[in-house]
Amino acid sequence: MNVGTLYIVATPIGNLEDLTLRALRILREVDLIAAEDTRHSRKLLTHFGISKPLTSYFDHNKNIKGAQILAKLKDGLSVALISDAGTPCISDPGYQLVRDAVASGIRVVPVPGACAAMAALSASGLPTDSFAFEGFLPSRPGKRRERLAALKGETRVMVFHEAPTRLAASLDDVLVTLGDREMVLARELTKVYEEFLRGKVSEVIRMIEGRAVKGEIVLLIAPAPANDARDQDLVPALLERYLDGECMSVKDAVKRVSEETGESRSRVYQEALKLGKNK
Ligand code: SAM
Repeated sequence: MNVGTLYIVATPIGNLEDLTLRALRILREVDLIAAEDTRHSRKLLTHFGISKPLTSYFDHNKNIKGAQILAKLKDGLSVALISDAGTPCISDPGYQLVRDAVASGIRVVPVPGACAAMAALSASGLPTDSFAFEGFLPSRPGKRRERLAALKGETRVMVFHEAPTRLAASLDDVLVTLGDREMVLARELTKVYEEFLRGKVSEVIRMIEGRAVKGEIVLLIAPAPANDARDQDLVPALLERYLDGECMSVKDAVKRVSEETGESRSRVYQEALKLGKNK
């Protein structure tokens, strides 16, 4: 008996018109659709008039479900894997299933389409000749700074997924750890409130200050300019952040900036005076 084919099918990240014609045909033709969240995907499939058997495949059931899906593929059924939005396996479940299918001699066929990271990068205005996709940063502050510190010497544009609840803290960590670089915040891509915020990290922080930023976000951080990767002076940007953004007293801001940059308190205080901050 012939074995089936596993299709890795990208679905829209907001705008339903982004489902490709090929994806539509494959989803209509396969025997089974494996979805991250069947209730969520049922709505998409219903919108396109597709009624196919659906099974769930997500992080917590991937071992048992992966084995069942593999058995069906070996029985000759064709299966489409979809995630809630965008391309499966990109910060989404699927990798183990693809790996196991490949190891079992099953044909794996990508059906490309929407991918938030690629959409953000393509319209960012940052160099696109090479880039580093980093997925989500760790949610715990210590781990997040550690991860960012490891990326300090990265010479490509870095692309991150980010949740709105962690956005402000992550941008602060980017500023402290990587410095005041060029960046782009891409939000709600392909949706009604699509937005791109471009500028230095400190400028983007200011743009979102006092705003309840909602929705889905991709962050793109430019590499440090070749000649100042190590000696960029972060003191003024951090002082402004803590004095104006967080309304700290000069004393507290100087202490914090000194701790974060390793600069002496007197040097940081001089910098605060230069910025006209002496109270
Ligand atoms: N596999 C998906 C893809 O190919 O785009 C990514 C899945 S990951 C679990 C979800 C993250 O992708 C969100 O937290 C956000 O960072 C990003 N994302 C998804 N849709 C987006 C959108 N419409 N605009 C901006 N970012 C989006």
